[in-house]
Amino acid sequence: MSERILIVEDNPENMRLLEMALRATNYTLLKATDGEEALDMVMREQPDLIIMDIQLPKMNGFEVTRKLRNNPAFSHTPIIAITAYAMKGDKERVIESGCDAYLSKPINTRELPEVVAEMLLQRQKDNPSTNGNG
Ligand code: MN
Repeated sequence: MSERILIVEDNPENMRLLEMALRATNYTLLKATDGEEALDMVMREQPDLIIMDIQLPKMNGFEVTRKLRNNPAFSHTPIIAITAYAMKGDKERVIESGCDAYLSKPINTRELPEVVAEMLLQRQKDNPSTNGNG
């Protein structure tokens, strides 16, 4: 079974771009378009990795991340934050909220799959009990 990636993004154009960037990979893609849906989706689907837009309706990406980090089941799920260019100086805040990595918009479609693959590999090293098939 392929690894499952949840993409959280409210802008349809950006969502399309993120999906396109990961199209050539083997991952199963799940989608959420606001913060509350993202939380529900994570609880229900337990994705292997999350790509999280920060500016979201209902609950922003910082808040979603903090809630997930307070839940032992999701305290180590890799989260890649996606931030608008205007927030580029906000790296500390992104890391402080519990995200593991951060990419700024516009998304580099070549870089994204590399970062995702790297983080999934890292996760396996940190937690050998997940063999990538689970
Ligand atoms: Mn947004």
